[in-house]
Formats: sequence, C-alpha cells, structure tokens
Amino acid sequence: MKRISILGSTGSIGRQCLKVVDSLPGRFEVVAIAAGKNVELAAEQAERYKPQVVSAATCDGAKELKERLKAAKLDRIPEVLCGAEGMERVATHPETDTVLSAAVGVVGLPATYKAVQQGKNLALANKEVLVAAGELVMAEAQRKGKAVLPVDSEHNAIHQCLRAGERREVKKLVLTASGGPFRKTPAEQLKDVTPDQALAHPNWKMGKRITTDSATLMNKGFEVIEARWLFSMRPEQIDVVIHPQSTIHSMVEFVDGSILAQLGPTDMRMPIQYALTYPERVASNGFALDWKSLTKLDFEAVPLEKFPCLRLAWDAMSAGGAAPCALNAADEEGVAAFLERRLKFTGIAEVIESVLGRMPRVKFANMDDVLNADQEARRLAREEIAKRMN
Ligand code: NDP
Repeated sequence: MKRISILGSTGSIGRQCLKVVDSLPGRFEVVAIAAGKNVELAAEQAERYKPQVVSAATCDGAKELKERLKAAKLDRIPEVLCGAEGMERVATHPETDTVLSAAVGVVGLPATYKAVQQGKNLALANKEVLVAAGELVMAEAQRKGKAVLPVDSEHNAIHQCLRAGERREVKKLVLTASGGPFRKTPAEQLKDVTPDQALAHPNWKMGKRITTDSATLMNKGFEVIEARWLFSMRPEQIDVVIHPQSTIHSMVEFVDGSILAQLGPTDMRMPIQYALTYPERVASNGFALDWKSLTKLDFEAVPLEKFPCLRLAWDAMSAGGAAPCALNAADEEGVAAFLERRLKFTGIAEVIESVLGRMPRVKFANMDDVLNADQEARRLAREEIAKRMN
C-alpha cells in the first residue's frame, strides 16, 4: 500500500489522480490533501478518501471546509489547515511516502521542496517547481537518493524511453508539441485572439494556466527547462518538434541514431499511474490507443518567430540564475492578465521579454533567493502589464 499526499487535489491532475486511486483498489491510501479555493470539492474528497489532513488556500476557506466536514457527520473529522503552512504539512505528513505535486504555479514550490528535503518520493506535475528552482530541487533529491518521477506526459514518455539504454548512450531528447489552438492561425491575427479561443486546446483538457501556456508555446519552453533538470541534459541536447496528434508523447535519440518513442492515448491518468506505481508497471483498466482512428503521425518544425515564448524560455535557460524563475513569474502574471482581458495574447511574450531584460542577474543559494526573485519578477511584470493595459 502506497501512502500518498496530493497538493492540488481539486485541480485537473489532482482529480485524475484520485480516479487512478479508484481504479486500483487496495494500492493507495490518501493520507493528506491540499486544495486551493474549491472547498466544496475538497470536502467531498475528504468524505470519500478519509485523509488525515486537509488544507485550503485561505483560512476563511478552511473555516468553511471545517463546517462542511462537520455537517457531513464523518466518523473522524480530519485536521483542517490553511495557507502555505497547511500545504507544507500535507507534503511532509509523517505517514506519507509519496507526494503528488499538482498545485499550479510557484505557490506549490515551498511545500514540494520540503517534501524532497524530508526524503519523500515525488511525483511531479507542478512544472513551475523545476522551472523556478530546478537546480536546488534536483540537488536535494539527489542528496536524499530519491528519484523525481515526472507526471508531465512528455517527461513521463522520456523517462520510459530512457529505461532502454544507459545515460551515456543518449544523444538528445525530442519533446513533442501539439502546436496548440493557434498552430494554423496567421501570426498577424494572434494579437486579437480571445481567452476562449486560447482555452480551446485541440487534444488535452487541462487547467487554464497550462492551456494558455500551450497556446503561446510557453508550456513547451517550461518543459525544455524541466527536461534539462529532470534528466541532467545540456540545453543543446533538447529539441522540440510539432506533432499535432499528440500520440507520440516524446522521444529519445540514442548515439547510434536509434530513436525510441512512447505512444499512448491523450489521457493524463496514464502518466499519473506510471509515476505513482513506478518501478512497477501495473495493468490499467482500459487505457488503449485506438489504432483504427489513428491514420497518420505528422511532424512540423516549430515557427519560433510566431511563438516567441519558446525562444524566451531557451534564452532564460541559457542565462540561468534567476532568469527561468523570472520567466515563470512574468508568465504567471501575464497569463492571468490575458485571461482577465487586461492584456493582449501577444502582450504575454512582450511582458516576459521586458521582465527578463530588467531582472538583476543573481545565482540562487537557497529557496529564499528563489522566492525573492519570484516576487521581484512579479512586481516588474505588473508594471509592464500596466503599461500595456487593453
Ligand atoms: P488546475 O488549475 O486544474 O489545478 C490547480 C490546482 O492547484 C487546484 O487544486 C487548485 O485549487 C490548486 N491551487 C491553486 N492555487 C492554490 C493556492 N494558492 N494554494 C493551494 N492550492 C492552490 O491545474 P492543472 O491540474 O491543470 O495543473 C496542475 C499542475 O500540473 C500545473 O503546474 C501544470 O502545469 C501541470 N500539468 C498539468 C497537466 C494537465 O493535464 N492538467 C499536464 C502536465 C502538467 P482549487 O481548484 O481548489 O482552487
């Protein structure tokens, strides 16, 4: 029996994780969960999975959660916590051995880092953790002798392909990108696209931030940075190719020219299950690729001039230090402003580029440095957004 804590239990990944738990009875015990604002769903999850600790983003939310749990007349009411401290308690619960980190944004970073420091196994969906603080988090995981199991479908695919060879035999990693909803939209029309259009992802149903990042291709930029840290690759060893069907989740090219790819349906329960059950492969209840409807696999080069966010991510990765952290913080602010119709779609990349240009060059020594850089980049991003208000 694996004992798990879930950060972001009410989100798209968190809910799918609980479906995996349902589909494999007797394999998992849910020890603790952390939600954001959706206390109604958090209360339902607590009733069903009976965790020992439940946390909400705010203390008002936790109060409401407690009232809901009292009204539900449970045999045992879980401990109800709130805020950053609550999230950390969920991530470090003494009975938990595996933490699924699936909150969205840097808000999930401190708790995830604490989990790694305490030697928990980490199943990582929250990509901002490695974008903002990849070097610190991976160094800590290495010190503890713990692997970080990627949930992101691309990195999960690479993790699977890497099982076929030695690390010295790897030439490069090839991340596939669907191209998002604007793959065929002429570049000059991008300034007028709406949040509804950006949120209509052709292949995946995900939270709003990552869906918008998929439309700008910033998501792929984050994944490049994530891959660098997860698999200890040099930046030039990571390639991106557009593959509109999203059937090949990613590939590894070996030094002899052989390329291994991992294929599967576009269903996040698959990589979640892999990350939670690793090193075992467990029979699933019905994930299957429909070969009859799969008629072709297409590939295209990425038009970097049309999607500047991906170029900015490469630049930030090469610059190192605080740049990737600033990239993420500016993007979080830019995407939020776009979704609230305060900024144009093309303004997201403009804001990020300006913030990267204004950020002081620093090297991170500890997590406080990361969180300070995150705050500074957000402050700069808000200034840049105000200059460009719709
Ligand atoms: P969602 O927006 O669907 O869910 C985010 C989760 O984070 C929710 O549980 C939300 O709580 C919680 N949350 C938000 N703010 C806070 C806060 N201040 N304190 C505590 N919890 C908070 O996102 P996704 O599930 O789509 O994505 C989660 C992470 O996984 C992201 O980093 C994303 O990039 C990554 N990822 C997602 C994939 C997907 O298919 N969805 C694929 C690969 C990676 P609430 O809803 O209660 O407010």
